[in-house]
Amino acid sequence: MSSVLSINNITKYYGPVRALNKVSFDVPEGSVFGILGPNGSGKTTLLSIILDVLIANEGSFSWFGQQSSPEQRKKIGSLLETPNFYHYLSATDNLRITQAISGRGTASDIEEVLKKVKLYERRNSIFKTFSLGMKQRLAVAAALLGGPAVLVLDEPTNGLDPVGIVEIRQLIAELRDRGHTVIMASHLLDEVEKVCTHVAILKTGDLITTGNVDEVLMDEDVVELSAADLDLLCHTLLQISKNVMTDNKSKTVCASFPKGTAKLAEINSFCFAKGIVLDHLALKKKRLETRFFELTNT
Ligand code: ADP
Ligand code: MG
Repeated sequence: MSSVLSINNITKYYGPVRALNKVSFDVPEGSVFGILGPNGSGKTTLLSIILDVLIANEGSFSWFGQQSSPEQRKKIGSLLETPNFYHYLSATDNLRITQAISGRGTASDIEEVLKKVKLYERRNSIFKTFSLGMKQRLAVAAALLGGPAVLVLDEPTNGLDPVGIVEIRQLIAELRDRGHTVIMASHLLDEVEKVCTHVAILKTGDLITTGNVDEVLMDEDVVELSAADLDLLCHTLLQISKNVMTDNKSKTVCASFPKGTAKLAEINSFCFAKGIVLDHLALKKKRLETRFFELTNT
């Protein structure tokens, strides 16, 4: 899979506040890429930079493997803030105005984007009669004018009721099925798990981890161990576990194993065979929430 967006070492300051710190990752073509992090972690700042709304202090990014150009910008649709639609105009008329201002696509696109977001039947209803979910879908329709390959959405389900949330999530899945790449910010782990194929987790401007959602947020068995020689224990465990971390404060080592595969008796005898006598050994089943909490709060 080639990447549609490549972000390299982006750093952004607002005065003394560092909002992003050397953030780098790639967005694969055809993915639904979630930028996940609590409020204030830098998500909107990052989206604003890749959309040329803000300028980074350091670092660079490239769309479709090339320098930014007006031609390429046309391949990117975005929804950073809710557009100011006219309350007394219909969905169609609002999109006509958006189109006239943005110069994206042609008049025939309007019907098509309204169909895509399932507002075609309501195309002649005035905006103010729409539910919040419908208003948000119209905003996505506006972003889809001109048939962009990539859609950038900032917290697209914020403020919606449960029905509106489901509708937007379904719409994102449909856009992906139609071949769009979607890059979306979210502070909701659950949303990223349900909607996204890939994720980058931000915490106060630092990229904590990135990759395939299943890999990053996978439920796993975590075994906590300790022994007199923590370094030796750590090195030994690396022979049987991909991910081993030493916590010098609690004098323990945590080793992760794929869900359901950690067998304490086997680990104990493996360590003993390597000359390590464990003085602590416990299985900690982690839930996804715990994993996210650890990633963003430690
Ligand atoms: P998120 O979208 O993840 O909630 P933001 O990108 O909005 O995070 O903010 C990241 C950090 O930058 C926060 O500490 C926020 O207070 C700060 N910040 C955002 N916009 C501005 C601004 N215009 N001026 C000063 N600080 C800002
Ligand atoms: Mg934000």
